[in-house]
Amino acid sequence: MPQATASIATHCPYCALQCAMTLTPGPELSVGPREFPTNGAGMCQKGWSSATVLTAPDRLTRPLLRGNGGELVPVSWEIALDHVAATLRDLQDAHGKDAVAVFGGGGLTNEKAYQLGKFARVALGTRFVDYNGRFCMSSAAAGANRAFGLDRGLPFPVTDLAGADAILLLGSNPAETMPPFVRHLDAVRGRGGLIVVDPRRSATAALCGDGAGRHLAPRPGTDLALLLGLLHVLLAEGWTDRDYLTARVEGFEEVAASVSVWWPERVEQVCGVPTTDLRAAARCLAGAAPAAGGAGAFILTGRGVEQSSQGSATVTAAINCALALGLPGRVGSGYGALTGQGNGQGGREHGQKADQLPGYRSIEDPVAREHVARIWGVPADSLPGKGVPAVDLLSRLGRDDGPRALLVHGSNVVVSAPDADRVRERLRSLDLLVVCDVVPSETAILADVVLPVTQWAEEEGTMTNLEGRILRRRKAIDAPGEARSELWIWAELARRFGAGGTWETDPALVFDELARASSGGVADYSGASHARLDESENAGRGCYWPIPGAGGEGGGGDDAALGTSRTFLDAFPRAGGRARAVAVAYREPADNLRPGAPVYLTTGRVLHHYQSGAQTRRVPELLAAAPEPHVALHPALAEIHEIADGDLVAVTTARGTAYARARITADQRPDTLFMPFHWAGLGSANRLTSDRTDPVSGMPDFKVCAASIARVTAPVPALEALP
Ligand code: SF4
Repeated sequence: MPQATASIATHCPYCALQCAMTLTPGPELSVGPREFPTNGAGMCQKGWSSATVLTAPDRLTRPLLRGNGGELVPVSWEIALDHVAATLRDLQDAHGKDAVAVFGGGGLTNEKAYQLGKFARVALGTRFVDYNGRFCMSSAAAGANRAFGLDRGLPFPVTDLAGADAILLLGSNPAETMPPFVRHLDAVRGRGGLIVVDPRRSATAALCGDGAGRHLAPRPGTDLALLLGLLHVLLAEGWTDRDYLTARVEGFEEVAASVSVWWPERVEQVCGVPTTDLRAAARCLAGAAPAAGGAGAFILTGRGVEQSSQGSATVTAAINCALALGLPGRVGSGYGALTGQGNGQGGREHGQKADQLPGYRSIEDPVAREHVARIWGVPADSLPGKGVPAVDLLSRLGRDDGPRALLVHGSNVVVSAPDADRVRERLRSLDLLVVCDVVPSETAILADVVLPVTQWAEEEGTMTNLEGRILRRRKAIDAPGEARSELWIWAELARRFGAGGTWETDPALVFDELARASSGGVADYSGASHARLDESENAGRGCYWPIPGAGGEGGGGDDAALGTSRTFLDAFPRAGGRARAVAVAYREPADNLRPGAPVYLTTGRVLHHYQSGAQTRRVPELLAAAPEPHVALHPALAEIHEIADGDLVAVTTARGTAYARARITADQRPDTLFMPFHWAGLGSANRLTSDRTDPVSGMPDFKVCAASIARVTAPVPALEALP
């Protein structure tokens, strides 16, 4: 493997904390942590072992085309791309532009996310483009956009958390998913102010012990009712910030009236959370709020409450509580959503969403269309309209009115999408499936064409972390074999399509174009460039969006930062400058308990794996630590079903059955199973999850469905076997 000569400063390829690290080339690429405000000098095991994926034994190094015998066989780039272009053109000639769809990912660099949206709209002319961030951040995005007019996961530096007297953390388990983040909770734990809401006693919930705070364990799917009750208590006790509400919020009267029926006893009945715990949580938050003279308070949400068919309403309820306490737009307080995927923030800003153009612009806004079309060098009326969210897109594949071909970039939907068996069926029904990946993921092995791409240490680019800080990803080594960047692949395909405009392949130039396209948008990057980001990061400074051109210095009250480290300090970016409180209503989980399905199933992540596991299952030390799927269940539930620890069990929902090893633990509620979703095959948790979606965000119901569990006595195939 050709090597660079000096150590390279970059960031982790995995989660949105984007821990700073240094890569040192040698016989093997060595990885070490680097001091940075987000991670101190910490990293988790995934980060330490991240170089292993680069040299995975089955790393894709040549384009593959499915031959007549049904096998994927190596071919030249010329043959692969000619085949893709010709097949797509034939399908579009026969069925129209929307016969082709594109599916992106929240792990793609900003440059790739931008170019993917442009490729779909300009080269392919299809409206069918969306991405796996729909499964991740869409409910948080919908709630924040509606309330604040801007969606930046943390609209403040993560280091602000250390100054707070109270933090309410809903549906997030950073102690497992991003361990270095926990350092930011140390101070509030020392003040006894950490409140964790999670049906499980997760590793993060366990941090509340010994006087560090309080763990509330609601029945799955009832987080929204809990938040309505919390606001009820704040109002009933007179703990709201009336001056702030008058000056900075609209619509709060209706919200206040809507929660009048959510008295604590009713909340206890619905959620199973004792009234004393609810009142104590409210008191803790209110005492920490600036209006009460506290040092500050934060309310943070994660996928546990967002990945639900009422996820956007739940986020809205959390924001309503934050507004009631006067937190957003105040230094040292606020509301935020903890982004999951590595570029889960930037990936949702630059146009790979079905309804979006770069700069977080709406594709239905005529002014935005004109602006972006001008940058792209095409007529505005040539751009397609709004597409459909990911779950809807996947369900249309291969149907009469749906796309006949799909290009997948940076996503393993066969494992990560809900109702995964149905997704596999849809993929199999396509005339052409093209997958760009670094390894033969479970989605790639279904493809007609597999294109090997560069990743992480092999490429230049930018990622935007969970606090909206734009970070440089730097190249340390050359990619193996014939792997190429998606930027090159899209340029080559665009040329074959005779697409208008220019198709840069240098990430710095693509960023410059992205910056111009984003100029004046909500997510404005026009004051940034690779060179400026390098300079900023080398100086230990941050660079946050919005960072408008012609200066962009020092917004948000942080002199050390470029751009805007804290948003909303003066006003919310909405007409009139005020935030909007929105009344929301609770309803029971769509797939609720019933005879034959007497327990809830929740899904999530474990310490040693990342998302679909396509990368971390290829790292021997991570696989050794967590080699196979498991189902966590309470001892009382295990006793009822005569299940012993380590037994093979079958979990069944309305979608199907999955198999896993039982892990018996009192950290579970007796009515709730937990299954991580990192595995494919018969152990895939997403064979069980529902594809019912949130009406506002399109987020699927990953986090709650009704299930049954039974010990398996008959032999079953290996858990990784594909059905
Ligand atoms: S996976 Fe996340 S927490 Fe772990 S090292 Fe990478 S960025 Fe940091």
